[in-house]
Amino acid sequence: MPVQVDLGPEVEAFREEIGGWIAANRPSELADLVDWYAPLMAGSNRRALAAAEAHPAYRTWEERLAQARLICPQWPEEVGGRGLNALEMAVFQEALYRAGVPRVTRGMGESLVGPSIIVHATPEQKAYFLPRIIDGTDRYCQGFSEPDHGSDLAGVDTRGVVDGDEVTITGQKVWTSGAMRANMMFVLCRTDPGAAKHRGLSYVLVPMADNHIEVRPIRQMGGASEFCEEFITGARAPLFNVIGGLGNGWRVAMTTLGNERGGRAAVAHLSYERELWDLVEVARKHGRTRDPLIRQRLAWAYQQVELMRYSGLRLLANLANQREPGPEASISKLQWSEYHRLFGELAVDILGASMLAGESVSVGNTAGEGGGALGRWHEVLLLSRAGTIYSGTSEIQRNVIAERALGLPKDQQLG
Ligand SMILES: Cc1cc2nc3c(=O)[nH]c(=O)nc-3n(C[C@H](O)[C@H](O)[C@H](O)COP(=O)(O)OP(=O)(O)OC[C@H]3O[C@@H](n4cnc5c(N)ncnc54)[C@H](O)[C@@H]3O)c2cc1C
Repeated sequence: MPVQVDLGPEVEAFREEIGGWIAANRPSELADLVDWYAPLMAGSNRRALAAAEAHPAYRTWEERLAQARLICPQWPEEVGGRGLNALEMAVFQEALYRAGVPRVTRGMGESLVGPSIIVHATPEQKAYFLPRIIDGTDRYCQGFSEPDHGSDLAGVDTRGVVDGDEVTITGQKVWTSGAMRANMMFVLCRTDPGAAKHRGLSYVLVPMADNHIEVRPIRQMGGASEFCEEFITGARAPLFNVIGGLGNGWRVAMTTLGNERGGRAAVAHLSYERELWDLVEVARKHGRTRDPLIRQRLAWAYQQVELMRYSGLRLLANLANQREPGPEASISKLQWSEYHRLFGELAVDILGASMLAGESVSVGNTAGEGGGALGRWHEVLLLSRAGTIYSGTSEIQRNVIAERALGLPKDQQLG
């Protein structure tokens, strides 16, 4: 029986209210359209998800959520959200998960750009950019990493030159998730090459269509092309699109990264829990639960998922006590990503060669690139490798934990 924490009467009242709202408003067929919570990387069941999202039931759900201000609900009320705090968001997400219905999100616009705009933008910029994220007009991708600058993000070379009331951008970005579905990119570029490394950067919202940005898909080892590289040769954006002011991009980018790492800490265990029980079922079917070593490793996986649950509870308890999350975001990210790699290896060891011929999932991006079919567990094995790299590698998370949680001396390389 999972442990529950008492989060106080207000949160319990919210849990009841939101659960009632979901039960009353979810279209009946929605839960059966697709597995909305399959814990796979972008791209795996992308086609199935895209088909489900095109279904009229999804549209109805989206409209009802929008009317109830439950799209970007964590944003303040004055910018179109519902002002849900992190605790209420965790309760909301868990209620959706338990009901088997999706949380309609606006991707990076909602989770990364929006929060950075809310903190750093002018009132005019907020009034222009935020409603366009909520109604789905602007779909963002993240133009941070470059061929020589991933962990060392402050070193980005992409140049931004101010020209009248515009900024002209030239350079190369890489590993940009979902770039082929986005129409806007938030770009970190160097607008003052003479300034100190962190100081000469700007955070610019750049339109992608007909703007001298060549997007080339990169094929991943799972077969899909869910991320891309971009060759930017003089893309233009109005100065109005610079968030936080010229030369202030590092601060804005740090807000973005804080949101990226901490985002799902409180509910991360939910999808892994279901995936684990699916694998236990597979192990039973293949007669592998009689093997003591497999049993031991499955028990280890169960412990890990329970530890994720406890970490989530600790985060929730902190939030209930009005404490801001600290390095918990890095601890959580490290925990789920390292777990998932080993879990993928366990799945392979259970299934052996039959994994290659197992239950298959289509892969490939929605533009039809890359196609193919992988067994579900084969896909988990391959794509879980990415989890310890994106949103900051495991080594970077360990640095954060060492410095901010344990108070160890600062890593010289990070500057
Ligand atoms: C699936 C996926 C999706 C991604 N999506 C995006 C995206 O949408 N937008 C975007 O901008 N980027 C994206 N990335 C890129 C990602 O942010 C970078 O890959 C990541 O930050 C690491 O940078 P890098 O690849 O340049 O590796 P490097 O920084 O070159 O690191 C190489 C190795 O050195 C280690 N290392 C580096 N610095 C240190 C240090 N100071 N201390 C200890 N070890 C260190 C790293 O841990 C790693 O093992 C994505 C990556 C993946 C895998």
